[in-house]
Amino acid sequence: MKFNLPVIILKGIIILPNNEIRIDLNNDMKFILDKAIKHHDNKLMVVFDNNDRLPYFGVICDITHKIELPNNQIRIILTGLKRANILEYLIDDEVVIEEIEITKNDKENIYINKLKKEINHFTKIIPYVSNAVVTLINNCDNLSDITDLIVPYLQISTDRLNEYLYELDVIKRAEMILEDIYNEEQVFELEKDIDNKVRMNLDEAQKEFVLREKIKVIKEELNEKTIKENDLDVLKNKLENLDAPLKIKSKIELEITRYETLQPTSPEVSITRNYIEWLLDLPWNKHTIDNDDLINVRELLDKSHNGLDGVKTRIIEYLAVKQVTNSLRAPIICLVGPPGVGKTSLVKGIADAIHRKFVKMSVGGVNDEAELIGHRKTYIGANPGRIISSIKKAKSSNPVFLIDEIDKMVKNFKGDPASVLLEILDPEQNKYFSDNYIEEEYDLSKVMFIATANYIGDIPEALRDRLEIVELSGYTEYEKLSITKTHLLPNICKEHGLNYNSVIIKDEVILKIIRNYTKEAGVRELSRILSQIIRKIVTTLATTRIKSNKFTIDNKKIIEYIGKPKYTFNSKNNKSKVGVVNALAYTPFGGDILPIEVNYFKGNGNLILTGSLGNVMKESATVALNYIKSNYKKFKINYNDLINNDIHIHVPNAAVNKDGPSAGITLTTALISLFANLKIDSSLAMTGEITLRGEVLPIGGLKEKCIAAARSNIKKVIIPFENASDLDEIPNELKDKMEFILVKKYDEIYKIIGENNE
Ligand code: ADP
Repeated sequence: MKFNLPVIILKGIIILPNNEIRIDLNNDMKFILDKAIKHHDNKLMVVFDNNDRLPYFGVICDITHKIELPNNQIRIILTGLKRANILEYLIDDEVVIEEIEITKNDKENIYINKLKKEINHFTKIIPYVSNAVVTLINNCDNLSDITDLIVPYLQISTDRLNEYLYELDVIKRAEMILEDIYNEEQVFELEKDIDNKVRMNLDEAQKEFVLREKIKVIKEELNEKTIKENDLDVLKNKLENLDAPLKIKSKIELEITRYETLQPTSPEVSITRNYIEWLLDLPWNKHTIDNDDLINVRELLDKSHNGLDGVKTRIIEYLAVKQVTNSLRAPIICLVGPPGVGKTSLVKGIADAIHRKFVKMSVGGVNDEAELIGHRKTYIGANPGRIISSIKKAKSSNPVFLIDEIDKMVKNFKGDPASVLLEILDPEQNKYFSDNYIEEEYDLSKVMFIATANYIGDIPEALRDRLEIVELSGYTEYEKLSITKTHLLPNICKEHGLNYNSVIIKDEVILKIIRNYTKEAGVRELSRILSQIIRKIVTTLATTRIKSNKFTIDNKKIIEYIGKPKYTFNSKNNKSKVGVVNALAYTPFGGDILPIEVNYFKGNGNLILTGSLGNVMKESATVALNYIKSNYKKFKINYNDLINNDIHIHVPNAAVNKDGPSAGITLTTALISLFANLKIDSSLAMTGEITLRGEVLPIGGLKEKCIAAARSNIKKVIIPFENASDLDEIPNELKDKMEFILVKKYDEIYKIIGENNE
């Protein structure tokens, strides 16, 4: 059917049949609209701008509403009715049109059902499609109308909308819709998937945050504080009461603020918390007041330790200088001596006497600088080094700081701990000591460092230069007896809750314990055995009905309590032998007596040495042998015996390393004894270096060696003449027991052994 209608051209807008749009038009379109309303029953032909030429296709629309707006505009609502072809453009904005009749298709019903089903599903999964459209579509039985109703709800481009407008085959249009719905569902699923992923990542972090915020609010409501807030209060309170340099206080304040802002799950929390605690716990400005009454200090030292006069005097001098100069710039004292002679306990005694705190740091076996000065905070599980840890333990910035076993540090690839000690012992540098972990400088200049070592030779050279060595030698039997009576026994009794006055023990019994149950330079073993005895007494008192207030310890009781003697000195031991001579040695454990054995057997004059001997000692053996070779006639030795045999020298106690030249004369005597068949008295011992010409040179550690000799019942000791001055140091008690023979040349020794064999 052909008829005329007024026409308008729209740009950028498309209206499909069965749909409504609202548009604002200029006032000059008014007459077209009026014409449509007045003469064409509100109908109007709408065409869409096709850019190039006049469109010959459009939609017949109904003007359902028309309002004139105040700004010379007209607002209309158009409802699409039918697609139509334009046959001719007329003047006065009219066109001749012909409606397009859509031919029915057999498959239409199938598509209608399919579309209805799809649109139901589509509206369920795509939230922005209104349910109203579903009702409209469900009530419609025309495929063309259904397609036109659905299209505006699809998320499609204007081009695609155009395709829908121009597509006159409804089946094709339905297929296009199915394709678009499917695409849209795919895109929507994909978006949902991405959304979920993003949300999940966000949720984890947000969930915790939200929960924590909630807890915070609840706690605030209940006037309660969180654990962290309480912790912060404690830290802030501690900081307020902390006596520390201003710089340190501000640093702690900064760290507390940092800690406050950290999320509880952050790995930094525990690191920062630990660091703050360390800074708060260090005794920055805290110190004790010294006891300046040196007479009183000396009295207290005398009370806590027997003897040790030289050491005590040196300590008093040191303190006196400190008092006068008000600084501790004197070299650091290092107590050197065998174990158990009271080095550690004396330093503790010094701390007590001058009213300072006492801390001990053992550096034995330390091979890593970081052990002393810590690791940087960034290391996992980092903490300050042992120096700062000890200061924290001392709770005072001026403790007496004992550095134990300074001779047993190890230098390796991890660094040289000795260099760290050099720094802390140097009064110029230790004011600015810096631990890797603490980062801030800590002033160690008020600390009184005292070092201890067993063996002077093992102290790293650079350190030895900075130290003032004070030697403590081993104790004689009588010194040990006195220490036992004045200190060891009273202390042990007290520790075991026993009244010392109720224990009766005679001196001979104590001496027996010292002689037959211990073999040491100090009194550690002795102290252990005495504890064992006292323990037995306490147990006896507790498990029997004996209600005596006196308890006598005699020889019988000793055997009952601690068994048979470990060391005996019977006549069998004292037999004279060929090829065995007692040497006197100085070891980290004090003096010792070593019976050197030699033997020979068929061979080529080779020298075999066993018993963990060092190079210097091996060389001494060669010197001894060659001295004998060049003087064989004098010693009445058959030269062939020397060159046609292999000679074996063994020094017992093979597990302990031995070195030094002081066994020279002993080795010579043992070899002469063997080859000239001379017996050597086993109560004779000797020490001295020998030269190729038979000179006897001086040795060290005489006092220790003599104490060891006395311990082993030696009656006669041969020593180098040049050591004569050292005899002053030997306690009279030893001089009374032993004969000292001073020699310059080996000939003198040969004379003595010759006389003994007459
Ligand atoms: P070191 O550090 O030299 O190895 P210690 O200080 O551990 O020795 O001493 C071991 C024990 O011997 C301590 O109980 C100590 O009190 C005691 N002691 C050592 N010498 C004396 C002494 N001269 N006076 C009193 N007690 C002593």
